[in-house]
Amino acid sequence: AEDVAGKVVLITGASSGIGEHLAYEYAKRGAYLALVARRDHRLRDVADVAEILGSPYALLIHADVSNLEDCKRCVDTTVSHFGRLDHLVNNAGITSINLFEEYEDPRNIASVMDTDFWGTVYCTYFAIPYLKQTRGKIIGIASSAAWLPTPRLSFYSASKAAVISFYETLRVEIGSEIGITVVTPGLIESEMTKGKFMFEDGKMYIDQELRDAVISVMPIEPVGGAVEAMLRAGCRGDEYVTEPPWLRMSFYWKMFLP
Ligand code: NAD
Repeated sequence: AEDVAGKVVLITGASSGIGEHLAYEYAKRGAYLALVARRDHRLRDVADVAEILGSPYALLIHADVSNLEDCKRCVDTTVSHFGRLDHLVNNAGITSINLFEEYEDPRNIASVMDTDFWGTVYCTYFAIPYLKQTRGKIIGIASSAAWLPTPRLSFYSASKAAVISFYETLRVEIGSEIGITVVTPGLIESEMTKGKFMFEDGKMYIDQELRDAVISVMPIEPVGGAVEAMLRAGCRGDEYVTEPPWLRMSFYWKMFLP
């Protein structure tokens, strides 16, 4: 197991959900944190809690990962403050939930690709030279939607599948120098899904019409499931936790069927 105490960890989208929880888990293990988000006040709260939990210091970076200059600034600010970078966690993401035919303008969903795919690519690009120096790690976050055709998530699925393909290629190119992991969580209750998907008794509903269709393909996980997988990647040195769909399916059936 890799000891992350004293390591410098950059987490994007750290003001809520998986990113926030992951920040706390790294904090408990004594890591220095560079927390990136667009919302200052939320980020300040997360940083305060992280320091109480054990992070020696949590640096706040206000940035939009869909912007190339912002991603460069995230990495540069982290390295100029801490002098190194050990883990990059590309967690920031948004979704778009609609039947494909019902989009009035398919260009409207470009923002999903800008954040989920390009944000990941930009941060990775600027972080690689520093991660090579520390033989560090990249943790990417895709989604089970990349594997499992899920109604109303066509663009989101595509952006996450692109993240997987991107990192699979990077693993071939630089995997001997930097550990690269992609996690593919199922459906998790967070700001991204709240109000759009409804959770009751461990089951997820969109509306009656789509409920059965979605439940039949989409696994449901507690936020801790994704955090645990990402921590395993960062702290325990697993190199790759994306799994073939059939394996994940059998695992998920066990989770939400009696
Ligand atoms: P969330 O909305 O709580 O967290 C996403 C965070 O990213 C937010 O803090 C948001 O402000 C931030 N963010 C969004 N766009 C940004 C941008 N352009 N620049 C900087 N920050 C930005 O949702 P979450 O569920 O914690 O999502 C975290 C990651 O997990 C995302 O990549 C998401 O796609 C992925 N994921 C979520 C689920 C789920 O069911 N919730 C399932 C699989 C994967």
